[in-house]
Amino acid sequence: MNPIILITGATRGIGFAAAGQLAARGAQVIIGSREKDRAVEAAKRLGSGVSAVALDITDVGSVKAAVAEIDKQFGRLDALANNSAILLDHYQSLLDLKPEVLLETLNTNVVGTLRVSQAFAPLLAKSNAPRIINVSSGAGQLDGEPQAWAPAYCISKTALNMLTQQLAAALPHVMVNSMCPGWCRTEMGGSDAPRSPGEGADTLTWLALEAPHDLRGKFLKDRAVIPW
Ligand code: NDP
Repeated sequence: MNPIILITGATRGIGFAAAGQLAARGAQVIIGSREKDRAVEAAKRLGSGVSAVALDITDVGSVKAAVAEIDKQFGRLDALANNSAILLDHYQSLLDLKPEVLLETLNTNVVGTLRVSQAFAPLLAKSNAPRIINVSSGAGQLDGEPQAWAPAYCISKTALNMLTQQLAAALPHVMVNSMCPGWCRTEMGGSDAPRSPGEGADTLTWLALEAPHDLRGKFLKDRAVIPW
C-alpha cells in the first residue's frame, strides 16, 4: 500500500522539493496550500500520485474541510509533514519587535501546527505506522550562544520543538519528530543559502518514509539527532 502523505505549504521551497522526492519513491502525496489553484498547479507539475488540498493552517474551517476531503478520498493518513511557516521579522531587533508580529508568527508556526496535528490525529490513527514531521529550524535551538536574528521566528521554532515533544507524549503510537532542513535557497531562505531545497528536504523525506518508527521525540538534521 502506498503511503499517503500530506505536506502543508508545499507549493514551493522545501515542501515542494519533499513532495517531488516522496512522489518519486511511490508515495501518494497531498500538497497543501492556502490557495487551492496554486496547490493544483504544483501537483500537476509533479504528475501522477500527487494531489492538492486547500489548507490554511490558521483557519479552523479550512483545516476541518481538508480533513474531511482527505478522509473521503483516502480514508487514512500515514504521514503529516507540518512544513508551513512564516518569517516576518528577518533583521528586526527584539527591542523593536511588535507583540502583534510575535503573535502572528506563533499563530502560524506553532498554533497552526498544533491545530493541524490535532485535526489529523484521527486519520493518522488509521495508519499502521503513522508519522508526524515538524519542520523546525536550528534557529530555535537552545544549546548555542544567544542569537539576535529574527526573534519572533526563533521563539516560534523553539516553541515548535516543545510542541514536538508534547505531541510525541500525547500520541504514543505516532512517530513524531522535529527536523531542521539547514539554510536553503527558497523564498524564505533567500538566494545566498548554501543548500538547495532538495538537500533541505532530504531528512523530511527520510523521516516520512524510511526512518525507523521507534525514532521519535527527537530533533534531527541530515538524518542524525541534534541537540534541542
Ligand atoms: P517558503 O516561504 O518557501 O514556503 C513556506 C510555505 O508556507 C509557503 O509555501 C506557504 O504556502 C506556507 N504557509 C505560510 N502560511 C501558511 C498558512 N497560514 N497556512 C498554510 N500554509 C502556509 O519556505 P521554505 O520552503 O524555505 O520553508 C519550509 C519550512 O522550512 C518552514 O517551516 C521553514 O521555517 C523551515 N526552514 C527553512 C529554512 C530555509 O533556509 N529556507 C531553514 C530552516 C527551516 P501558501 O502560500 O501556498 O499557502
